[in-house]
Amino acid sequence: MPRANRRRDDGAPLDLARVTGGIPQRARYAGGEWFVRSVTGAGAQRAYLCPGCQQDISVGVPHVVVWPADGLGGVDNRRHWHTQCWSARERRRPQGSFR
Ligand SMILES: [Zn+2]
Repeated sequence: MPRANRRRDDGAPLDLARVTGGIPQRARYAGGEWFVRSVTGAGAQRAYLCPGCQQDISVGVPHVVVWPADGLGGVDNRRHWHTQCWSARERRRPQGSFR
């Protein structure tokens, strides 16, 4: 699992919420296919731990939810990510890079 130690605040990140409009899209990550759906601030009614940065996604913060497109694990395998962390998932160093 990639370890994230730095947020990517480089300019204008991909705004998944705007791009998808709430419709699931497919994306590749960690060698598999995932569905990605945006969650609006109003829809974020509890806090989650972002796998990308290991930090909380606070209540009311728009983010994305992803789950395996192959159906393995189903909805139990959903993960909530900061939108920016998800967008930057492929750009993160696998590990050992503090900034
Ligand atoms: Zn994050």
